[in-house]
Amino acid sequence: MRLIESKTEMWQACSASSRPLGLVPTMGSLHPGHMALVERARTECATVAATIFVNPTQFGPNEDLDSYPRTLERDLSMLEQAGVDLVFTPSSAEIYPRGFNTWVDVLGSAQGIEGLYRPGHFRGVATVVAKLLNIARPDRAYFGQKDGNQTAVIRQLARDLDMMTEIVVIPTVREPSGLAYSSRNAYLDPYQRAAADVIYRALAHASTLYASGQRHAATITDEVRNMINSEPLVNGIDYVSITDAESMNEVEWVERAAMLAVAVHIGGTRLIDNIVLGQE
Ligand code: AMP
Repeated sequence: MRLIESKTEMWQACSASSRPLGLVPTMGSLHPGHMALVERARTECATVAATIFVNPTQFGPNEDLDSYPRTLERDLSMLEQAGVDLVFTPSSAEIYPRGFNTWVDVLGSAQGIEGLYRPGHFRGVATVVAKLLNIARPDRAYFGQKDGNQTAVIRQLARDLDMMTEIVVIPTVREPSGLAYSSRNAYLDPYQRAAADVIYRALAHASTLYASGQRHAATITDEVRNMINSEPLVNGIDYVSITDAESMNEVEWVERAAMLAVAVHIGGTRLIDNIVLGQE
């Protein structure tokens, strides 16, 4: 496994690699969700490249950039064991050198529900993903459904800017309790960790309501909200929202595949999760 910090070297290594080349962008602190992306890339691509970069521009001023978990040594050994060929770990200055002043603003999906709660977040995400795709020029890039709004933004970015990379989205990987793996789960103490299971229980309940014929979005979201709020360690809910999976517009009736997404505060930790109604 080759470790690369310079974007020129990354570009050269990717250009010279056996095709197809798969790219797995991450912010590190790797868990089984990330590794599922790597494994999928490994089955489909001759070369697999991963990136580890805690992208400062996607964090808001009061968010957790400084405390975001960083476990580089462990991440590298996990990637090596998984058979990754190239790992790109640039510094912030390498990605955003002095004078950097071009931003990618995806409209529509980036103003979806998560974008409304994290102003500027998707601008940072779209900008760094565009840069990583330009540096690596992969045939395929792998993202997780866990960040459902993000996948819609990245699909639109790749389509609108004629990126010659296929965007592959893989299902959310969950702990046995149903809790979605997330680097931010590391912030939870054992009580909060147990309380966080309410999120998937509520999503699974919504799935049951949908399966029994309920199509009224507000009825489903009210039940989800009540169930999550019944957990005493929940500190607040940013949203429980059902949107069209592509446009990220809220829907009143669930008529075709729609994403039920939630953002929940447990202690000081903000967790997001979603399911696609009609598919899971
Ligand atoms: P992050 O390091 O949080 O930026 O995540 C890097 C990639 O891993 C993104 O495409 C995420 O959507 C994906 N990812 C994170 N958690 C999960 C999970 N539990 N299941 C599947 N993919 C995930």
